Amino acid sequence: MIEQFDFIVIGSGLGGLLCSLKLARQGRKVALITKRGIAEGATAQAQGGIAAVTTPDDSIEDHVRDTLNAGAGLCHEETVRTVVEEAPSMIRELVELGAKFTSSKNASDETEAYDLGLEGGHSHRRILHSRDSTGREIQRALLENVHREKNISVFEHQVAIDLITGPKLGLSEEDGCLGVYVLDRLSGKIRTFMASGTILATGGAGKIYLYTTNPDVASGDGLAMAYRAGARLGNLEFVQFHPTCLYHPQAKSFLISEAMRGEGGILKTADGAPFMHKYHPQKELAPRDVVAQAIDQELKKRGEDCVYLDMTHRGEAFLKSRFPAIYERCLQFGIDIARTPIPVVPAAHYFCGGVLTNEWGETSVPRLYAVGEVAYTGLHGANRLASNSLLECAVFAHRAVQRALEGLTPLPRTSVPDWDSGNAKGSDEQVVISQNWDEVRRLMWNYVGIVRSNKRLFRALRRIRLLQQEIQEYYWNFQVTSDLLELRNIALVAELVIRCALARKESRGLHFNIDYPLENTVFQKDTVIQGPHAPEVMEPIFQDLPKPKSEVIPRP
Ligand SMILES: Cc1cc2nc3c(=O)[nH]c(=O)nc-3n(C[C@H](O)[C@H](O)[C@H](O)COP(=O)(O)OP(=O)(O)OC[C@H]3O[C@@H](n4cnc5c(N)ncnc54)[C@H](O)[C@@H]3O)c2cc1C
Repeated sequence: MIEQFDFIVIGSGLGGLLCSLKLARQGRKVALITKRGIAEGATAQAQGGIAAVTTPDDSIEDHVRDTLNAGAGLCHEETVRTVVEEAPSMIRELVELGAKFTSSKNASDETEAYDLGLEGGHSHRRILHSRDSTGREIQRALLENVHREKNISVFEHQVAIDLITGPKLGLSEEDGCLGVYVLDRLSGKIRTFMASGTILATGGAGKIYLYTTNPDVASGDGLAMAYRAGARLGNLEFVQFHPTCLYHPQAKSFLISEAMRGEGGILKTADGAPFMHKYHPQKELAPRDVVAQAIDQELKKRGEDCVYLDMTHRGEAFLKSRFPAIYERCLQFGIDIARTPIPVVPAAHYFCGGVLTNEWGETSVPRLYAVGEVAYTGLHGANRLASNSLLECAVFAHRAVQRALEGLTPLPRTSVPDWDSGNAKGSDEQVVISQNWDEVRRLMWNYVGIVRSNKRLFRALRRIRLLQQEIQEYYWNFQVTSDLLELRNIALVAELVIRCALARKESRGLHFNIDYPLENTVFQKDTVIQGPHAPEVMEPIFQDLPKPKSEVIPRP
């Protein structure tokens, strides 16, 4: 049976929730499909906050410049300007929807004002936050609204498998994306959803790496589905490693917020010596890639497992009130951060690249939009400025919905076949899946990590292709499960990252290759890769950046 809606939104983080809400409030019927519980995703874990210019001593120009500086020459300047200019109104909208950002009283005139955080790469305090649980607070507010909205049907524990596109049904490419096949994790059945527009809001792909700050759902499903549907993907080699993930055997992906360095945290080696002054004049507040590379270098040089973030000088009262969640969580692991420096290591954190979109969230496949971390809008370039990603989700949710509503056309009349399981049977060796999961993630960590080399990248490519073959075989022979679908996706995304990293013969932003240690203007372009008519021959190409309409701000 086909389930028919006006729009399908895949993913229930900030991107997906806001899109669903906006569409529903325009009277559209929305299927909000999410692969686990509705609150699971990176949004719930975002600690630091959301960047926007909200005070007179800050300026749009400065926020634009900081974003461009972080992006190392690859940001689409027009997109940056749009996002930064629309940020204050998006903040107002989130507040109207019920999100509460931390504020404090001004000592001199008793007026209430947002308590603004400072993070690496920002020239001003401009991060709005809800203590250290900003994403959770925004999500709470949006969920309250979503649950009240009768035009939204929420489908939890439903894993989108593949997009249904015109060419797959014998129609033309212009017919674009018509729907999606979905695995019901509870019944094991495959469902078919159809709609005039589909919005991918599936988040990132941190799970392709062994160590990551990302939640389990971040297996790059949206990237893989879009690639298999023939969409263009951009700049996948730019993976941000967060410098400070808690290092503790029982702590699974717990992030120590960048805001801690904004509040005076000092990075030290095991012997108590600070080291960031050796790497960057801004020391702990240098951009994330510089901090992550510095830690990586110190660890490799000294053969140690972790470095330490020292917050002890800020005192218990301040730490408890400003970072209550981090304080509590560390205490659960026996670390009193008011008295002991916090052991930290870098971990894969954010996918700067993604499904290529224009400034309205439209992908290269008609009727398919991408919003949030799954998208490459041109905002982040070669490196993301901290706290710009929640902002990007909000601004592009707004823009994609606006465009989707304008361009809504009925689906072509066609019959859609049910999912064909062929002769697939139940898996006889679950261990193949867990073994391959581990292999993909380990090879990405060891060969395609913070510091890369041609030798390691080629080695990674050879191995991932072998693994891909084995996984594909398994995929066709056995009934799909959520683990198998995710494995198929992480393997594909890993391969795309490797191929893009090999194509970029320079070092820029988050991509550092010791065989090409310098930036090269020849590569001041987007890496674009497109699937999958003949995936083995579709090598990445380099595409010129869009020309900004306004004056270019020089990078100091
Ligand atoms: C620990 C951590 C801290 C962060 N801190 C900040 C911060 O302070 N400020 C900031 O700006 N950014 C921060 N980020 C980044 C930011 O949180 C994310 O980029 C942003 O929340 C992404 O939102 P999203 O809506 O795109 O995806 P997500 O919030 O990740 O949601 C993705 C959704 O898609 C669903 N999904 C995925 N695949 C499928 C599928 N196949 N079928 C159905 N559903 C699917 C998931 O279940 C989930 O609901 C942080 C990220 C992490 C991990």
